Amino acid sequence: MNQNKLKVILGGTFDPIHYGHLRLAENLHNLIPKAQITFMPSATPPHRETPSVSARQRSEMLELAIKGIEHFNLDTRELQRQGESYSLLSVNEIKKENPDTRIIWIMGDDAYAKLHTWFGWQELVEKVSFVVVARPGALQSEPAKAVVNTLSQCCSIEELLTFSSGAVFRHICPLLEISASNIRELLMRNLSCRFLLPESVLNYIKQNDLYSHKG
Ligand code: ATP
Repeated sequence: MNQNKLKVILGGTFDPIHYGHLRLAENLHNLIPKAQITFMPSATPPHRETPSVSARQRSEMLELAIKGIEHFNLDTRELQRQGESYSLLSVNEIKKENPDTRIIWIMGDDAYAKLHTWFGWQELVEKVSFVVVARPGALQSEPAKAVVNTLSQCCSIEELLTFSSGAVFRHICPLLEISASNIRELLMRNLSCRFLLPESVLNYIKQNDLYSHKG
């Protein structure tokens, strides 16, 4: 398979980026050797509260976190678009730029359980495949029946890669029990977040006085 035409995307709010996200991405790099992992921050996420920190700052933190890691890159297209950050619009743009690109979307099972509420999800699942991981520390979240019935269920990454789209593989791998909400909570209470996220990101947070106030 031509890996050059493969785009492996980890979307999210990254409010802020932490080692849980980075380890998830690294696991996917191990799973699909030679694959570049693309972090795609959401400017205005449709499925959750608008982040307190601006899209530009969240993306600057991402840039610091992945600096020097050759197999990670950043796609800021959702920051340049007006309106809600619908994944389908990004997928359509990527396909327009290069119709042969095969897209794999990575997500935690908490996000997968809500996939049926995403804008144009039926069209989205026709255009991408998914690798879903169990989010550590969270209750097991079950996906909607409609989503399960629509996607081809794969037992391995090799099987998933035989599909151009419309497939899902549930990958079991060790992950880190870190959440952005817990980090925000610690920062708000002026408690240490060391070892949960890169030092460079923590320094950026301190320099810009982020997450220190409620609301
Ligand atoms: P919060 O903790 O506030 O819910 P979050 O980190 O889940 O924030 P996002 O930044 O949107 O929110 O997460 C991006 C993606 O990374 C989602 O698919 C989410 O399921 C996944 N994810 C987040 N943290 C982890 C983790 N520790 N391990 C594995 N996957 C994670």
